Amino acid sequence: MKPRRERAKEKLLQDRSTPPRIGTFHCPLCHTELPVGATSCTNCDWVEGYGQEPAAFVPSSRDIAAVFLSIIPGLGHYFKGHHLMGITYFLVTFLMVFFIGAAGMVGMGFNLLLLPLWWGWVMLHAYLLPDWNRQGRLPQHLS
Ligand SMILES: [Zn+2]
Repeated sequence: MKPRRERAKEKLLQDRSTPPRIGTFHCPLCHTELPVGATSCTNCDWVEGYGQEPAAFVPSSRDIAAVFLSIIPGLGHYFKGHHLMGITYFLVTFLMVFFIGAAGMVGMGFNLLLLPLWWGWVMLHAYLLPDWNRQGRLPQHLS
């Protein structure tokens, strides 16, 4: 009797060489015969869409607009439908400007460099956020 691993390998090769019967297809991972239209495997954890590239991020004119609106931090988030986040970003920026302004030139003014970094982050974040106002609240593949 051959070792178990060898037998499993032979079975796999055999399964691969035989075309699936009509109305069935082979699981891409374990080659179990599955009925056409099956979205998951009965033998392993394969599911439909496994290994496919996720949809690429395609920037729209609204993403660009959100970046420019972020000149007032939070407005870009608000524009894309993230109202609470937009208000939070606005208030956080307001507090940052207040405290950094109050600190003045403490630390030789290096603290003033934090503001452009913060602004850049807010703009980038507004750019990358999903657009709830255009797509509804669910990602496209779920709606
Ligand atoms: Zn499988």
